[in-house]
Amino acid sequence: MEYFAKLIGVNYGRITIRNQKTRWGSCSSRGNLNFNCLLMLTTPEAIDYVVVHELFHRKQMNHSKAFWSEVEKIFPDYKTQVKWLREEGYQIMRRNHS
Ligand SMILES: [Zn+2]
Repeated sequence: MEYFAKLIGVNYGRITIRNQKTRWGSCSSRGNLNFNCLLMLTTPEAIDYVVVHELFHRKQMNHSKAFWSEVEKIFPDYKTQVKWLREEGYQIMRRNHS
């Protein structure tokens, strides 16, 4: 978190790790970040991606083209992680919330 926050140039509030059914992470308008504890069953790359994604929401609270092009600058391989989370990550969530 600290590493990427510095790189991106944003700050953040409280970090909460919890069991969430449908999301890997979220960012409140106050800058508090939530992460799904099931991330520990994913990969270091996927975790980095989710961290970068949520930190960029400190700059813009949307998924506009501008948002993704910023993400890509810091995390060029983000599409691989998006795909991985959609496919493999989905299975992890499903297995752990049956
Ligand atoms: Zn998002």
